[in-house]
Amino acid sequence: MKKGYIKQLHLSLKSKWMLAVGVTIFISYAIISIVLYVALQTWLINNEEKNALRTIDDMSTFFEAQENTVTIQKLQNNSALMKAILTQEQTVRIFNLDGIEIMRINDVTSAAEFPTEEMNYFSTIIEKQSIDGTEGYVIHRAVRIGQFQGIMQLIHPLTTFHTMMNYILTTILIVGFGAMLFSVSISYYLANVLVKPIVQLRDAMHLVRNNGFKAQPQFDYSAHDELGELLQMYRTLMNELEISFTKQQQFVADASHELRTPIQVIEGHLSLIKRWGKNDPEILMESLTTSLTEITRMKKMIEELLQLARREEADESAAANIEEVYEQVKEELLQLYPDTQFYLAVVGQRAEAAVTEHALAQIFRNIMSNSIRYNSNVPNLQINILYNDTDSTILVTIEDNGLGIPKEHLPYIFDRFYRVDESRTNHVAGTGLGLSITKMLVDKYRILMKVDSTLQKGTIFSLKFHKK
Ligand code: ADP
Repeated sequence: MKKGYIKQLHLSLKSKWMLAVGVTIFISYAIISIVLYVALQTWLINNEEKNALRTIDDMSTFFEAQENTVTIQKLQNNSALMKAILTQEQTVRIFNLDGIEIMRINDVTSAAEFPTEEMNYFSTIIEKQSIDGTEGYVIHRAVRIGQFQGIMQLIHPLTTFHTMMNYILTTILIVGFGAMLFSVSISYYLANVLVKPIVQLRDAMHLVRNNGFKAQPQFDYSAHDELGELLQMYRTLMNELEISFTKQQQFVADASHELRTPIQVIEGHLSLIKRWGKNDPEILMESLTTSLTEITRMKKMIEELLQLARREEADESAAANIEEVYEQVKEELLQLYPDTQFYLAVVGQRAEAAVTEHALAQIFRNIMSNSIRYNSNVPNLQINILYNDTDSTILVTIEDNGLGIPKEHLPYIFDRFYRVDESRTNHVAGTGLGLSITKMLVDKYRILMKVDSTLQKGTIFSLKFHKK
């Protein structure tokens, strides 16, 4: 059989399973039955041969034990003893040396043919012959009864043996057929049990492909085996896919919505310029300034969106000096917001953190610029950075003494496009993407981030870095 032949058969899994089980059981049973049948046959036929030889030995002993004066006639008149030595099927004939029958004990079968080979007084010739259509053992042996010398012929038909063999064969066939039927039913049941969840899984996949994630069917297979695990895995995978699919959809919807606003504003202003602005330098100037602001916002948003979409693998060999990166970001921010006060406190050694300098700068920039931008009205605004390098991790906290974030908004500030209402009303320029980018980077480098905020007191971001 070609390798993988069964795999290539265009049959259902259930049929393949049943075919394999059926063929295996059939072959095993056939081999066992043949071996058993042959062994029994050999054993029984040997028994028959032994019985026939024993009978002829007994007969010889009987004849030899007779007195010298005994005659065939005398024996024939008293044949009950001799009959007792034979079984019902056996026949013994005594021939004189000319081949003429002198005496017969039992008369079950006709006489057999004499052996072709030469006989002497001591030989016993045993052979198989078919007499009256029945196979049997025929034994010839020289015999002396009183003064008489002749040849004794024993016919031992194999009827019992054949009946026995037929009976065994019938039993083997019936039991075999029954066993086949039983095992095929069991394997059909098992195949049904095992294939059912696979079929359900296939149907579920079909359904999801045709009708989307909403069409999730229930599986009624709850066993904790490989199949159960497979279904569980599929369910988890589908849920994750659904969540990420919904998130993607939401993201696209939010992104287009957020981009539409500045485009509409620009469109409105361009129409205004077209209609009135050409001759009115005031309108022209105002519309151009607004359009440019919107374009800058749009540009920033697109850049941030691209950054979020570009999910690169984390650089495993990355190492950043936290203090250096902080100083660099601080300088950048001081250029934009010169009045801001930064305070840094360092505890412990100064090990490097497992993050790229670029990512760390982005994280610091987003958090610190938020602290400045959203608290521009706060007098004496301070940003305190505490850098605590312990044995296993590096803890950095960035704290401001600003307005704080209302509790109900805190869980959402890392969501894309999420902006706290006040920041919109206060007209702080922003896209709502800054903290989502921070979250993405933090997850990428397995940094633990926590945020606490108290209204009118300030906000504190804690970052726990792995050491390089
Ligand atoms: P953006 O990119 O528009 O600044 P973020 O995702 O960075 O948006 O921030 C989300 C919201 O969290 C902001 O709208 C702001 O209201 C709030 N926020 C973030 N940091 C602070 C902070 N230090 N103080 C007050 N509000 C903050």
